[in-house]
Amino acid sequence: MSISAVMPTYARTDVVFDRGEGAWLYATDGRRFLDFGGGIAVTSLGHAHPHLVAALQEQAAKLWHCSNLYRIAGQEKVAARLVANSFADTVFFCNSGAEAMECAIKIARRFHQAQGAKDKFRVITARGAFHGRTLATISAGGQEKHLDGFAPKVDGFDQVAFGNLNETRAAITPQTAALVVEPIQGEGGIIPADPQYLQGLRQVADEFGLLLIFDEVQCGLGRTGKLFAYEWAGVTPDVMALAKGLGGGFPVGACLATERAAQFMTPGTHGSTFGGNPLAMSAASAVLDVMLADGFHDRTTRIADHFWTQLRPLVAKHSGVFAEVRGKGLMIGLKCKVPNGDVIARAMDNGLLAVAGGDNVIRLLPSLLIGEAEVDAAVAILDRTATELAA
Ligand SMILES: *Cc1c(COP(=O)(O)O)cnc(C)c1O
Repeated sequence: MSISAVMPTYARTDVVFDRGEGAWLYATDGRRFLDFGGGIAVTSLGHAHPHLVAALQEQAAKLWHCSNLYRIAGQEKVAARLVANSFADTVFFCNSGAEAMECAIKIARRFHQAQGAKDKFRVITARGAFHGRTLATISAGGQEKHLDGFAPKVDGFDQVAFGNLNETRAAITPQTAALVVEPIQGEGGIIPADPQYLQGLRQVADEFGLLLIFDEVQCGLGRTGKLFAYEWAGVTPDVMALAKGLGGGFPVGACLATERAAQFMTPGTHGSTFGGNPLAMSAASAVLDVMLADGFHDRTTRIADHFWTQLRPLVAKHSGVFAEVRGKGLMIGLKCKVPNGDVIARAMDNGLLAVAGGDNVIRLLPSLLIGEAEVDAAVAILDRTATELAA
């Protein structure tokens, strides 16, 4: 047998990190890196943020887990704050983005079926979408590379072009229960939805009596300069999935919903052993302490503007390497003209971590607390990297 003890489902880079501080990661071989991957949009307040560390340490000494057989004070507190700061009336806690999306899909099916529409179960999703790696969410995402070898596809997902309202309308049948979209596609290559498209989806959902589900697992929680990306479009969904940034690195997912959408999610209809345990809630609560403080989003927007002001000329200067910069706030995609993997590998050699995305994009998803000096250092590394690649 030659399989590694860790199941080899990832193409991992040969580096081991053992310490992080703010925007920096320190490897066991003595190298340090500017972390603009953020563990794929997870460490949204950087590494070892003192407030998060203290919150988790304090909770760790008191109570880790007790199950959802009992009330959990941390859940009540975090849910109340998410409700107070969003469209939602109620929150289900889980452990990952895929689980948050599973909950969203279950809410949509049950919403219709509990009202007697037993044949309503289909969900319309967008091409290029990513909603997780469970059987249902790979079927929702519809990407061949994620479905290969895992047939049969879970039934009930119909894909249309991202951004296309006519196709969305045309795909609706009497079996359709919901529309699902990422307000900014993440894995697909940082592709923002047009505000008019999101507004149109809201109208279509209302016209046909469908639930509108936003997957903000990647674009949510402050990344775009507002707490939620949907705020930029001035529309609200009926259901929304969150995860990545919510625990600042601790695994937490959440599915938010209006009272109307979740009215049939009664005791026994859904559950999770670990979801929303006290340890996870202490992390999420500490993240919200920071993100809900006055001026947090303004600061993100200011630092993002500082970054974008340099990225636009950088892309123009290296037009043989970069095709465009796109995204919103600190959710940034650089579309490449050379293989994105080459740019990421070279940037890493130069001390900067970034993440690959679809459409030959490199994703920059740094800590929202990044400073100007760190942004400038990242831009300098990208500049050097592009110069080397062009040579
Ligand atoms: C990462 C991601 C998911 C899946 O989250 P996991 O925690 O990996 O299950 C779902 N939707 C979007 C938009 C994501 O970016």
